[in-house]
Amino acid sequence: MSSSAPPMTPLHPRPPLRLSCVVPAYNEAGHLAEFLQALHACAAALTSDFEILVINDGSRDATREVALAQAQALGVRYLEFSRNFGKEAALSAGVDHARGNAVLLIDADFQHPLELVPRMVDLWRNGYDMVYGVIADRAAESSLKRLGTNVFYRLMNWGSSVQMPRNAGDFRLMDRKVVDALKALPERNRFMKGLYAWVGFTTVALPFVPAERFSGQSSFSLRRLGALALLGLTSFTTLPLRFWSVAGGCISLLAIAYGLWITISTLLFGNAVGGWPTLAASVMLFSGVQLLSIGILGEYIGRIYEEVKQRPVYLLAQDEDHSPLAPPHP
Ligand code: UDP
Ligand code: MG
Repeated sequence: MSSSAPPMTPLHPRPPLRLSCVVPAYNEAGHLAEFLQALHACAAALTSDFEILVINDGSRDATREVALAQAQALGVRYLEFSRNFGKEAALSAGVDHARGNAVLLIDADFQHPLELVPRMVDLWRNGYDMVYGVIADRAAESSLKRLGTNVFYRLMNWGSSVQMPRNAGDFRLMDRKVVDALKALPERNRFMKGLYAWVGFTTVALPFVPAERFSGQSSFSLRRLGALALLGLTSFTTLPLRFWSVAGGCISLLAIAYGLWITISTLLFGNAVGGWPTLAASVMLFSGVQLLSIGILGEYIGRIYEEVKQRPVYLLAQDEDHSPLAPPHP
């Protein structure tokens, strides 16, 4: 176990646990009933005051029917999006609607081990505000995915003022004050892993080895992971913009030096009118460089455009509230 702060004795003992478990679900019909039952048993062993929230993120299979059946049987709150808004939006919805004083985010596919939840709660009771799972072993993943993850974390932590713990996913337990801080962040581009790091508080890492997916397939293809990485980089760093400033500076210096050299050599040796291939090649290279840098500016402008439109992060089509937790009194 590693931590960003030494273990601490809480100044005030934690109030009795009221646990909200947030489960994003996209095409998880194959195992959702088993998962919700297992999660229910796990939470019930920890406290009698708990709720489960399932967010159906526009699934195209029978997730809705399975979740609704369990919602009635187990007392689960069922939230359904009007379409697929993505996992970051589903987690945001869970965080927005959770009523507990501690919120657990957990995937619906059994990849996040339920056995770790009691340990997370213990750490929360010991004063940690956020307990996050860190993937201890990525051996099962393809080498391309591991390489991409490596480059991504390096760039993120180099370019951003907040340090994002490597290999930390969405599996985490958060205290109410972390949840309120997340809810208060107004941005529409919700790169959750960055936001968790940005809000700070006392955090502790808990290594775990993800289990095999129970059934079905991961929704995150390499392409979708790439898009998520780009969202993270452009939401939390200005590294791509800075890169082009530096590159522009270097290229300008080189151009000045080359210009001087041409002038001097013309004065000394006369003009032999040569160098057309060099000219053609450099015009092509630099128009490419300019287009690329305009494209990167465009990425940021696109994000700014999304923010100023102020569209909601998600739209709810249904909210079937069987949660046993009463809303907290203001
Ligand atoms: N998920 C979601 N919306 C999406 C994609 C995924 O809510 O658009 C959920 C999914 O149901 C699961 C979790 O996010 O509970 C993680 O997804 P997945 O297992 O596909 O990803 P991986 O484990 O490969 O990161
Ligand atoms: Mg998974």
